[in-house]
Amino acid sequence: MEAVRRQLRDWIDADQDRIVGFLSGFLRAKSPNPPGDTREACAFATALLAQEGLSHRIVAAREDLPNIVASVEGTRPGRHLVLNGHMDVFPAIEDLPGERSQWSGDVEEGRIYGRGASDMKCGTTASLFTFLYLSRLREHLKGRLTLTVVSDEETGGRWGTRHLMETIPEEVLGDCCLNGEPSGAATVRFAEKGTLRLVITIRTPGAHGAYPHLSASAVKIAGRLMGELEEITELRPDLPERVAELLASPEARRAMEESLGAGAPDIVDKSTVNIGVIRGGLKINILPDECVMEVEIRVPPGLDRARVMETFRSILARHPEASFIDRPDHSYDASWCDPDGGMALILQDNVQALRGVRPPAIVSLGGSDARYWRWRGVPAYLYGPSPKTMGRRDEHVTVEEMMHVLRVHALSAFDYLTR
Ligand SMILES: [Zn+2]
Repeated sequence: MEAVRRQLRDWIDADQDRIVGFLSGFLRAKSPNPPGDTREACAFATALLAQEGLSHRIVAAREDLPNIVASVEGTRPGRHLVLNGHMDVFPAIEDLPGERSQWSGDVEEGRIYGRGASDMKCGTTASLFTFLYLSRLREHLKGRLTLTVVSDEETGGRWGTRHLMETIPEEVLGDCCLNGEPSGAATVRFAEKGTLRLVITIRTPGAHGAYPHLSASAVKIAGRLMGELEEITELRPDLPERVAELLASPEARRAMEESLGAGAPDIVDKSTVNIGVIRGGLKINILPDECVMEVEIRVPPGLDRARVMETFRSILARHPEASFIDRPDHSYDASWCDPDGGMALILQDNVQALRGVRPPAIVSLGGSDARYWRWRGVPAYLYGPSPKTMGRRDEHVTVEEMMHVLRVHALSAFDYLTR
């Protein structure tokens, strides 16, 4: 089996130009979501499968948001591994005059630039090529490998992974999921926070700005409320002992700092509150009668969202002028799986062999489609490029990390399906 593994590595090394060229072209195939028309990116990805003579099918809830599903059967019975990546990306920020277009796909000084390079066309490229190489090695595989490349992750997955889970669960659930969302080379992700999205409206009678004795100010109440909502960050989760121990370890804390930025270890097991939008007031000399705040709370694994809501309601109850609605479409539970599961160890072994450092398993601060597997009891792990430039004008990955992420995915999928 070592010789076959060697062959796999040789293919990847020999194909570097092809892989980098593919990612560059994939980035030029615009797929901003919203509005979310991914047909060009989808055609680009399916052309790669066609070049290799691999069949696929399209499973779509909306014509402009096609999802690619392909599967290869090993020659002996075994486990079913599912590769998952998304091809929709954040909308581009308006390009500055004289600056590189965010849809350039430029390859320059070892970097590949473009909207979605980090989140997550690099990871999806790794999934596609992993599927391509392992299909060539099917005679050595046990079980089954399924590729899912979806068109809607950025707006919640309703037209993407969620649609697949609802329509063809027996084909896409599998025994384990591997996904290349940005994680940074230094960490493997086994869990992620959940969210609560709430819209608060504060209403008062309002008045002339010189007559504050006649009405409370909706904007000033919003200001007080904003401070009080921070009480939510004091709630403590009830983490499984192993997870708590893992997150407190010096290696995990260091890796979190490296991958998520300084300060990340201090918020990973806490709820955080973001006031994303605030609107209120009409004119400088009018006392505002309305203020609207859009609030997003990120809830760590082990903390029940009902407990967070209880605290939220009790804070709001102090201000009878305030009411709220929640946005259940965009609120979801945290998810996690076994940080010491089979695929977690395989990923860690392969990264250690390639980089010389073992990446600890940590919790993602943001969301990913991996939650759809974890909620159904199937372990799902992320390993992908650096998240540092995602969503920025200069979003990019390095050629080196593209190749590293692909090596880790291909070798880990191979190990999972041959052991
Ligand atoms: Zn993503």
